[in-house]
Amino acid sequence: MAWQGVEIEIQVPCAEGQTHPVRLRFTGWGAFEVAYNPCEELLGPVFARMAACTHYLHEKFPEAFRNDTALKRRLVEAFGAAGAPAVPALIQALGDRRENVRRAAAEALGAIGDPQAIPALIQAVGDSHSAVRRAAAEALVKIGTPAVPALIQALGDSDRDVRRAAAEALGAIGDPQAVPPLIQALGDSDSAVRRAAAEALGAIGDPQAVPPLIQALGDRRVLFAVRQRKRWANSATPKPCPRSACGRTQANTPCDSGGAGQTRRPPSRARAHPSAGG
Ligand SMILES: [Zn+2]
Repeated sequence: MAWQGVEIEIQVPCAEGQTHPVRLRFTGWGAFEVAYNPCEELLGPVFARMAACTHYLHEKFPEAFRNDTALKRRLVEAFGAAGAPAVPALIQALGDRRENVRRAAAEALGAIGDPQAIPALIQAVGDSHSAVRRAAAEALVKIGTPAVPALIQALGDSDRDVRRAAAEALGAIGDPQAVPPLIQALGDSDSAVRRAAAEALGAIGDPQAVPPLIQALGDRRVLFAVRQRKRWANSATPKPCPRSACGRTQANTPCDSGGAGQTRRPPSRARAHPSAGG
């Protein structure tokens, strides 16, 4: 059965300065038909064609719709509630001229979580408005693993905002297949991208990221990111703690338990070793 679309009631001008409600059925972004017009009921289909409301709907409404942000947001909400069948219409809404409509569309697509929205959402990550970019990135995180290949590709985008958002989203999704491309992004030309990649790697917590992260500690932006990550230490390769060297080289991290199985920590963290032995 074909999708019936969503119905929205609007007020339309009619004869003698009066307005009355009309129900419109939308099957696409701005694509509508009249579901119910009381004038049609009253006048019959032939005379209703001459009514002012009918003229308004055909002549003026399409342009009015373009400028009516409130109505467009109601429509996005209705499409969002309709779920998967409304995804193509919401993808169209991602290209709307009003940024808060685009943002609402991205949010609705994230809530639906349909992977067919991924290419449009990746494009929206490069939107001119930050709120739209954020909403699109969050939507991709909600879609999760199916969005990972497209986000990995976006790590090579020419727009640094897109690369950074892709790294952040990959960290939030936490899929290990993003680890090698994120390691590569540690060498990005933009410091914010490098930092986002380091944070993402810390969040994913895959041990193969540890040597490149240690190498990247020379990068101040990356070091800052690593310092903020508690999970970094948990992802480090377990190494035996050389008891004799411990007190000398790590004055602030006394090794009171000794023995093997200690977890290596970034030197800047002034914390005691976890006492594996008790
Ligand atoms: Zn009417």
